Amino acid sequence: MTNHFSTQAVHAGEEKRKPYGAITTPIIQTSTYTFENTAEVLDYMQRLAANDPTVRDEYGRYGNPTQKVVERKMAALEGGERALLFASGMCAITTALCTLLSSGDHLVLVSGAYRRTHEFAFSYLSRWGIETTLAPIDDPTALATAIRPTTRVIFSETPTNPYLRVIDLAQMVGIAKQHGITTILDSTFATPFNLRPLEYGVDLVIHSATKYLGGHNDLLAGAVIGSGETLAPIQSARGVLGGISNPHDAYLLLRGLKTLDLRVRRQNENGQRVAQFLADHPAVRCVHYPGLPSHPDYEIARRQMSGFGGVVSFEIEGDMDKTSRFVDLLRLPYIGPTLGGVESIIEQPSTLFSLDREERYEAGLKDNLVRYALGIEDADDVIADLSQALAQI
Ligand SMILES: *Cc1c(COP(=O)(O)O)cnc(C)c1O
Repeated sequence: MTNHFSTQAVHAGEEKRKPYGAITTPIIQTSTYTFENTAEVLDYMQRLAANDPTVRDEYGRYGNPTQKVVERKMAALEGGERALLFASGMCAITTALCTLLSSGDHLVLVSGAYRRTHEFAFSYLSRWGIETTLAPIDDPTALATAIRPTTRVIFSETPTNPYLRVIDLAQMVGIAKQHGITTILDSTFATPFNLRPLEYGVDLVIHSATKYLGGHNDLLAGAVIGSGETLAPIQSARGVLGGISNPHDAYLLLRGLKTLDLRVRRQNENGQRVAQFLADHPAVRCVHYPGLPSHPDYEIARRQMSGFGGVVSFEIEGDMDKTSRFVDLLRLPYIGPTLGGVESIIEQPSTLFSLDREERYEAGLKDNLVRYALGIEDADDVIADLSQALAQI
């Protein structure tokens, strides 16, 4: 029997009987797990060698009980066999890429990926003899052309930041499978509520759990989900590189995940309502939201996703200063760089990206662009606030 998403969000991965009859999974605040005698050590070593998933803990860099419950819950929510939890989204991405790529291998990175993923490929992997080719997100022919005999991984992200571009997963996986290439999708903006990439044949799904999954702007974590076979070497690398999630953040993530369904439903609603309001407003030049028919990937998003998320990007009718003035006139959202939490957060990407104008333009960030990451507030209040600010500019 497979439960529905919201039931899994609450119950999947949890032990029914917990220490002291507690209803919540506890934080086990320890760095090391001790053995009663040599027989217990040897039994542990045997289970470890046999890859027994229920093997006990030994040392905190390899795992802790709270993190393992989160992993089981994440695997259930994504419909994957296993999940691995990391200290951050970037830690999940870098550990996965370091495991799957060796010197002489080639990576295809689909355009629009998170800024630091891009930086890792072009400033770090390049130093270790791994070349990267950028492929456009909306051109399968160009994606196929980017592939070389040495290509091992295609890495993509959907929807992307800040223009919310959506890749056609069936098409991407089809191309990768023809060449036996591993596909990785950073699904942070989609969440497992809105998109189930493994059902399209993607090999590994990655999340910055710092965003929607945690959902309360109070933790950093990352996750990789896929088959046990693909994850085994990544788990070993995590033990070497040391990027495991700590018990406290794992606990907060576990609590956040239980309300994922409720929060993302509301954020989808808020995103759609705010996008429509802005699209009809004369002080707004254009809106980038995959739930609007004007978005270039609307048809793909509609087919592939069950909701379009809580991030809405738009361009103010005006220049850099007018856009900054608009941002400063808003009363409800915080100004900041993250997304996915219960609090609405706004950002003028050009001000937070770099002081160098050329660098900003190269990254495709227009001066008048605003990214609104909606929280779970009432959409009427968000719209009233937007309305008063737009009226004043
Ligand atoms: C934030 C983010 C990351 C990085 O995650 P951290 O948890 O901040 O390390 C990676 N990809 C996407 C799409 C993100 O939004």
